[in-house]
Amino acid sequence: MATIKYIFITGGVTSSLGKGIIAASLGKLLQARGYRVTIQKLDPYINVDAGTMNPYEHGECFVTEDGAETDLDLGHYERFLNITTSQANNVTTGKIYHTVITNERKGDYLGKTVQVVPHITDEIKRSIFALGKTGNYDFVITEIGGSVGDIESLPFIEAIRQIRWDLATADFLSIHLTLLPYLRTAQELKTKPTQHSVKQLQAAGIQPNILICRTEKPLSASIREKLALFCNLNLTAVIEAMDASTIYEVPLRMYQEKLDEQVLTQLALPTTSVPDLSSWRNFLSQTQKTQQTLRIGLVGKYTAVPDAYKSICEALIHAGAYQACQIDLQFVSPEVLHGRDIAKSLAPLQGLLIAPGFGSRGIEEKIAAIRYARENQLPLLGICLGMQCTVVEFARHVLGWKKAASTEHTPQTRYPVISLTATQENVIQKGGSMRLGAQDCQLTPGSKAAESYGTTMISERHRHRYEFNNKYLQDFENAGMTATGIHPETGLVEIVELLDHPWLVGTQFHPEFKSTPLHPHPLFVSFLKAAKQRND
Ligand code: GLN
Repeated sequence: MATIKYIFITGGVTSSLGKGIIAASLGKLLQARGYRVTIQKLDPYINVDAGTMNPYEHGECFVTEDGAETDLDLGHYERFLNITTSQANNVTTGKIYHTVITNERKGDYLGKTVQVVPHITDEIKRSIFALGKTGNYDFVITEIGGSVGDIESLPFIEAIRQIRWDLATADFLSIHLTLLPYLRTAQELKTKPTQHSVKQLQAAGIQPNILICRTEKPLSASIREKLALFCNLNLTAVIEAMDASTIYEVPLRMYQEKLDEQVLTQLALPTTSVPDLSSWRNFLSQTQKTQQTLRIGLVGKYTAVPDAYKSICEALIHAGAYQACQIDLQFVSPEVLHGRDIAKSLAPLQGLLIAPGFGSRGIEEKIAAIRYARENQLPLLGICLGMQCTVVEFARHVLGWKKAASTEHTPQTRYPVISLTATQENVIQKGGSMRLGAQDCQLTPGSKAAESYGTTMISERHRHRYEFNNKYLQDFENAGMTATGIHPETGLVEIVELLDHPWLVGTQFHPEFKSTPLHPHPLFVSFLKAAKQRND
């Protein structure tokens, strides 16, 4: 294809309509027709990245190969498209302003008044086009966070309006995703909020080319006609997006609704090819071929917001499909375990996952849960903080160092089995300063980790400050907890395993970020295999 086609997805009526899933589904359909696609998220908040936000505010912080701390939608993009994203795929208002203000201080705009239009909007446009230049793409899909009409997203909308005139008509497409509320008393779907939302977009100078309607009831012909009429659209450009039972069904629904065909037609591209969705359909049918249900407990302090553990939940679904089992994921908050009979709470489980996290809340309950798993042969996967707690538990109850701790939680501990390395000790700035992104890891042949991966050299993504304290490594190994994954250059411990346990593995990295439906993560697959064996 000669030029890159730019597709913009805005949302209206309410937030949380699943723009990310729609963007990823469209990307999937175009990719399945042989096009090269990337997706970007523009986030209107002033944080430079998602790394400094509590998961309660914003759900999981997804980490890319190059160490960007991003919005969780990037996880959907990676999982649906089997691509890797980077810093360039997530742009925030904070990042835009940071660049413009840094440029202003350098004197780049000497003599000029620096303004939202054109300076901020130019920088937004630069970021959008910059992504197009990072690869050989046919399509760049840009999702704009928030809803049309939000004060925060105005500069993004204005930038898109300008781009409409920077590009040839056949290189630009605007898609608007809205909600059609169903009024039970009237037994009717209502179009008015959508009409208003489209009007707001039009007032900002953008006419949507395609309207996607989230709805719990099918759209009747008359509703479609009404929407087309009031929103200045062809009837074929009104797309129904019914609630789906799983997000992985959405690409197929969008295919049935001919979203991809509509996009290609409006961008003057041929529609003759047929998207190859066979492996995707395979995965979906695999998720339905359930032989058994496994009860997996996830202990973490943000369990009230399941989005906080998005990639872990998805990785379990991918591995579950591979292992032909359904996952009954039970979120266990530390508060629920507090003061309870841990054995009674955890006995019904076939596997336990200790989540990543920050701060002291819930640490003691996590350690108690790990102790139960270790002593009762319950398969356990500890991720990042979960791995660190696994180490602390072993130090306290096997090595007998009762006061062992991570210095994150007990700075003065006598046994700092988890601590800061010299590179982190003097770091004051919080944003973007952790050990971030993909790092190599050398596995011990014959270990559970090496068996799971089927290789001894891997690369996984990190997001943490604290590390296993190598001063104690020999003590741990002598007592039966071995480091089976090591960073080849620094010697940092990336994986710990127990020798005399069916499956107890802790990873300092986050395996969940690399799991996709078509490539379930080997550690999750192997964890579920162990859970299945326990079930048997
Ligand atoms: N708080 C721990 C650290 O910074 C673990 C971080 C995490 O679980 N992502 O090392």
